[in-house]
Amino acid sequence: MTQHSILKQRLVAAAMEAGAHKVGFAHAVEVDADNLGYYQRWIAAGNNGGMGYLENHPAVRRDPRKLLENAEAHTVMVCAFSYYHSETQSPDAARIAMYAHGSDYHEVLRQRLQTIKTLLESEGCSARICVDSAPLMERYWAVRAGIGFIGRNRMLIVPHMGSYFFLAEIITDAPVEPDEPCTLSCGDCGRCTAACPGGALRSPGGFDSRLCLSYLTIEHCGDLPATLTASDGAPRPLCKALGNRVYGCDECQLVCPHNANPPETAIAEFHMRPTLHTLTRERILAMTQADFSEIFAHSAVKRTKLAGLQRNAIRRSRT
Ligand code: SF4
Ligand code: SF4
Repeated sequence: MTQHSILKQRLVAAAMEAGAHKVGFAHAVEVDADNLGYYQRWIAAGNNGGMGYLENHPAVRRDPRKLLENAEAHTVMVCAFSYYHSETQSPDAARIAMYAHGSDYHEVLRQRLQTIKTLLESEGCSARICVDSAPLMERYWAVRAGIGFIGRNRMLIVPHMGSYFFLAEIITDAPVEPDEPCTLSCGDCGRCTAACPGGALRSPGGFDSRLCLSYLTIEHCGDLPATLTASDGAPRPLCKALGNRVYGCDECQLVCPHNANPPETAIAEFHMRPTLHTLTRERILAMTQADFSEIFAHSAVKRTKLAGLQRNAIRRSRT
């Protein structure tokens, strides 16, 4: 066994120890022209809505080697961490997407990947942790690293495990043998497209953020639109599409056949906070800033701030 393959085994073992369910490696090179072209056309068509940050740093997005300063990057290590848990909110609770039921993954995973960074550095290598914090096409790299494929719902789908995963990467100059890219696809399934309440998956670009309830409830600034109009559908009132959701949407994951038997997260911080079981929209609307800060301390929900969450919780008439 070569030193490189021994290092690879140690990295995989360290990632599993940190709570990952799947780990893969890809050569750090430029993103291929097809995927880069798709991304550029998607942005040019305005599908990113108000997420202007997705247009920043195109040179780095094209070439992840630029993320490692003072060293020549060889490898993108991709780790997939399940956030799935089987607890459910009560039927009349304000619905919050599962990924936000626990603590903010940015904080949790960065801390957990630190042991891998330290391991690489102890071997004389450079390493940079990326947890949604760098202009990296992470699902593309997850495919390249053999972790899974990108579904029609634009989620990374891990075969036999589903899509309830956070991705985190380490860019390093360690020359680790790459894994085979994943070549699977959705085939002729279209359940998520049919089920999407906003019609976001019917757009010519495959996904229009401006019609996605996750985008609208988390990323969108200002008032919410009264109606949503997919390219091939009649306008639908937002209140009908939104239902009881106040933060994110899981519909295109709930209907996906790959999520029939997802693995439970190995990370306690991703389980549901007790308050969320029965948190109603009325309770959100009556929240003070102090309540919000206490209930959502170290939670991804803080992204909307109290005003954004209350905007989402208002009951709208069907006009
Ligand atoms: S998160 Fe919801 S609204 Fe967005 S694409 Fe998926 S099903 Fe549609
Ligand atoms: S529901 Fe079907 S089409 Fe959509 S992501 Fe899952 S497998 Fe793909």
